[in-house]
Amino acid sequence: MTTLDTVPLWIDGRAADARSGRTFVTENPATGRPLADVQEAGPEDVDAAVAAARAAFPAWSRMTGTERGRILHRAAQILRSRNDAIARLEVLDTGKPISEASVVDVVSGADCLEFFAGVAPTIAGEHIDLGGAFAYTRREPLGVCAGIGAWNYPIQIACWKAAPALACGNTMVFKPSETTPVTAIELARALADAGAPPGVFNVVQGGAETGQALVGHERVAKVSLTGSVPTGRRAMAAAAATLKHVTMELGGKSPLLVFEDADIDNAVSAALNGNFYTQGEICSNGTRVFLHRRIRDAFVDAMLPRVRRMRVGDPLDPATTIGALISRAHMEKVLGYVELGLKEGARLLCGGARVTDGACADGWFVAPTVFEVQDDSLAIAREEIFGPVMTLLVFDDEDEAVVRANATPFGLAAGLFTRDLARAHRVAARLEAGTVWINDYNLTPVEMPFGGVKQSGLGRENGLAAIEHYTQRKSVFVQLGDVATPFA
Ligand code: NAD
Repeated sequence: MTTLDTVPLWIDGRAADARSGRTFVTENPATGRPLADVQEAGPEDVDAAVAAARAAFPAWSRMTGTERGRILHRAAQILRSRNDAIARLEVLDTGKPISEASVVDVVSGADCLEFFAGVAPTIAGEHIDLGGAFAYTRREPLGVCAGIGAWNYPIQIACWKAAPALACGNTMVFKPSETTPVTAIELARALADAGAPPGVFNVVQGGAETGQALVGHERVAKVSLTGSVPTGRRAMAAAAATLKHVTMELGGKSPLLVFEDADIDNAVSAALNGNFYTQGEICSNGTRVFLHRRIRDAFVDAMLPRVRRMRVGDPLDPATTIGALISRAHMEKVLGYVELGLKEGARLLCGGARVTDGACADGWFVAPTVFEVQDDSLAIAREEIFGPVMTLLVFDDEDEAVVRANATPFGLAAGLFTRDLARAHRVAARLEAGTVWINDYNLTPVEMPFGGVKQSGLGRENGLAAIEHYTQRKSVFVQLGDVATPFA
């Protein structure tokens, strides 16, 4: 018995059943019970979605940016008007608290559509004067883009990929994570209701196999994937077979440096946001919190009571601040890291166990957990856990902190707290990360480019930078005089 209607595919402007004849089940992580049956796209469904996107491409790419922007703008308004209903679906599908989803998930997706709606009419090439000739460049769309999402911010990720792709004149086939298939269809509906022609935005459902069919499809020009590093590697290797453009938004183990002159209360607030928001399932989380030895005690004393006050509970209860992890398997992985941390000699300061009280009885809840470690080489200080587990480390000077912060194959994000202006910018420049926050953490306004360096990814989403990744330049040379030639 599931709670929602069957979740369809969305192909050529309407909901569709899979030609494969297969379905799978998505569950509610807060109850462990089935939430909905989902149509599973096989290769023939992926083909149909790509064909619809290809058919829609010529007319969509020939529209003016202003016309495309108007549609994206309307879609943003529609999403906002459906905020509460979509936020509730997101909570049922992801387990995250409604206190977050009702103000962040749909809203940030709508912000992104609005931003790129405004950018669409400004996308232009350049003019290059060459004396007796000139050249101009055209910024042309790539064609059919594949978007592949992770499960932590399903509708936001769908919007972060669809908005710039569509603004630039591309069409898209989007595959949400198989664990959170519900709300991508809501974006498809909003776009259709806003006037996007059939085929401009399509949704296929399924897991790695469906993703592979999309990435391997010869008619797909670009892949933008949000997921883990191993998945990114595989998808990029597959995309290389047909030399597709790629944007890879992958995992991290980001550092947050708190210097001795930091505002401690703000640093604690940022560390809590950067470790426990969405029960820790955020790629850019500052899970390695480096504390200057002089403020270590003050920081820990200010932080622990606030961690203990967090409310783990029913995600639909507005008072809940920590929801359920995405699945039993993921909860077990997170608890496995807790065990490993204890075995390797990390000191547990709070949390460290599954929560099964009251409303949490049947779901995948883990108490917010804080470890302190003496040794950066421990697995919990090196590997992405993607759950509510913070690791504290102590340092003595700036140079040491930067070297230790950078000693990771990841490079998604970093943060630092200091009142020293020169140090703030000096350290920001030295940190190997796609984004550095000074005196805050984890804010990702759509105006600001976001993405990773090192193995955390390639390319950028958001900001004007995203346009680079959804267009290609064509150079057009124009001769105004005679053709010069040695061939008399
Ligand atoms: P995942 O790598 O398991 O899956 C990501 C997506 O890729 C899913 O839709 C999945 O079905 C698909 N997929 C899996 N194998 C594929 C293949 N071979 N070819 C094509 N597609 C394939 O990641 P997840 O567990 O869904 O999400 C968690 C991970 O995502 C974490 O590592 C997290 O850091 C990362 N993440 C990164 C960002 C970012 O913006 N950098 C944002 C959110 C999450």
